[in-house]
Amino acid sequence: MTITAPTVPARVAGLVAELDAVRGVWIGGTGRAATDGTTFAVDDPATGESIAAVADAGTPEAVAAVDSAAAALPGWAATPARTRGEALRRAYELMVADTERLAALIAWENGKALPDARAEVAYAAEFFRWFAEEAVRTDGEYGPSPAGGTRTVVTHVPVGVAALVTPWNFPAAMATRKIAPALAAGCTVVLKPASETPLTALAVARILTAAGVADGVVNVVPTSSSSTVVTSWLEDPRVRKISFTGSTPVGRILLRQAADRIVNSSMELGGNAPFVVCEDADLGAAVRGAMVAKFRNAGQACTAANRFYVHADVADEFVARFGAAIEALRVGSAFADRTEIGPLVSSKARAGVAALVDEATAGGAAVTHQARVPSGDRGWFYPPTLLTGVDAGAAILRNEVFGPVAPVVTWTSEDEMLRWVNDTEFGLAAYVYSGSLQRAMRIAESVEAGMVGVNRGIVSDPSTPFGGVKQSGLGREGAREGLREFQETKYLSVEWT
Ligand code: NAD
Repeated sequence: MTITAPTVPARVAGLVAELDAVRGVWIGGTGRAATDGTTFAVDDPATGESIAAVADAGTPEAVAAVDSAAAALPGWAATPARTRGEALRRAYELMVADTERLAALIAWENGKALPDARAEVAYAAEFFRWFAEEAVRTDGEYGPSPAGGTRTVVTHVPVGVAALVTPWNFPAAMATRKIAPALAAGCTVVLKPASETPLTALAVARILTAAGVADGVVNVVPTSSSSTVVTSWLEDPRVRKISFTGSTPVGRILLRQAADRIVNSSMELGGNAPFVVCEDADLGAAVRGAMVAKFRNAGQACTAANRFYVHADVADEFVARFGAAIEALRVGSAFADRTEIGPLVSSKARAGVAALVDEATAGGAAVTHQARVPSGDRGWFYPPTLLTGVDAGAAILRNEVFGPVAPVVTWTSEDEMLRWVNDTEFGLAAYVYSGSLQRAMRIAESVEAGMVGVNRGIVSDPSTPFGGVKQSGLGREGAREGLREFQETKYLSVEWT
C-alpha cells in the first residue's frame, strides 16, 4: 500500500499493512487492484493529509463482485443456520479481541476520538453477536385455512444477493448492522463503503473470512464513483435487495433507481432529533444525556440531538450547566492525549456547519459557550458550541447540523413545543427528559420519530429496532426486524382433502 502521509501512527501500521488497500477490492475472499490500476486517496481529517491509496473500483469490479456473491449464494443459503450463526459469533469474538487496532483504524480515517472509536467497535461487534443468536430463530407458521381443505405453511427465505451502501460516520457499525443480519438470513452481499472511510470495511471483511465465512459471501467494493458502482448493482437482475444508510437526498435517488426493477429496499436516512427538557426534569441527568446525544462522534450521528427545546423555567440553569460541560470538552486529533472530540470529516462538512451557525447568529442567536480547538490551521476542527436565542424557524433547526453545535429554543406551552418538534420532514430519533415518567412517555408518544430516548441520551442498541418514520427511512435494523429485512415471506398452500 502507498502511504502518502509522512507518518503512519504505530498503532495502525500493522493493520494497515495487512489491508493492502491498493489491492482493496475484496472479491471471493481475496483482494485485487482495480482493473485499470487506479486508486483514490483517503484523508486524515485531523491534518487534511492523504493517508492511504485505495483501489478505485468501477463497473468491471462491481460486476465481478456480484458474480462472486451470486456464485456463493446457493451454498451459503443452504448452510445450516447454526453454522452461519457460529461464524458470526466467531466474528464477534475476533472483533472484540482486536478492539485497539480497529479503533485506531477508525479514528485514523474518520477522525473520531479514540473513546468514540472504541465504543463503535463494541457496538459494531455486538451486531455479529446479536445476529449469531437470531440466525437460528427463523420461525414459521402452520395451520388450517379458514375454509378448510388446505393447510398453510409460512416460512421465511433469504432475499438473495444484497447490495449494501454505508456512510463514513460509523464505518464499522453501519457495515456490521447490515452484514450480520444478511448473513444470518442466508444472503450474500456486495458492500460499497463510503469513499472517506473504506479501510475499516476492508478490515471487517477480513475478520469475517478469518471467522470462517465462505469466500464470496462478503464482497467489498471501494470506489470514488459511488453512483457508477451502485447503479450497476441496481440494474443487475441478480441483485434483489438494496440496504442503504446515508442522507435522505441520496436515499431518494436510490429509491427511484430501485423502482425500475422493484428492488426490495431498506433505507436508514437522515435525522433532525429534538431534545426536549421539561421544567420538572432532573437537570443533571438531562445535561449528561445532552452531552452524549449531541457530542458523540462530534455530532456526526444520524441520531444526534439537533435542536434543544428547554422549558423557560429551567432554561437559564440548563444552559449554564450544559455550557460549562461544553467549554470543558477537549478537542483534538484522535491520537492526542485525552481527546474527547475529534475533527469533522472534511472541509466541506466544516463549512456546512459554520454556514448554519453564521445564519443563526445573523438571525439573532448568540454563541454563549464554546470549547477551544487546537491552534494552527490543520484539520477540520469545529468548536463545540452552544447557541441561545435561536428563532424557532431558523435553518439550523430545520437542517441536519451534523456537527458539534447545540441550538437552544425555550418553550412554555407543551402543545406549541410539540408542533415545533414535529414540524420537520425527518422522524428518526428524539429525546425527552421529565421527572414524571408518564409525562415523558406521553410526550414521546406524540413525537413523530422511530426512536425516543426517555430520560436517556442514547437509543442505539443492536437488540432494538433502529429506524425512522417520515423521510428518515424505510425498514428497521437490529432486533428481530433487522433479520426480516433480508428475508422474503413465503407460504405453501397444501391440499388437505
Ligand atoms: P451520503 O448519503 O452522502 O453517502 C452515504 C453513502 O452513499 C456513501 O457510501 C456514499 O458514497 C454513497 N453515495 C453518495 N451518493 C451516491 C449516489 N448518487 N449513488 C449511490 N451511492 C451514493 O451520506 P454520508 O454523508 O456518508 O452520511 C451522512 C448521512 O447519513 C446523514 O444524513 C446521516 O443522518 C445519515 N445516517 C443515517 C443513519 C441511519 O441509521 N438512519 C446512520 C448513519 C448516518
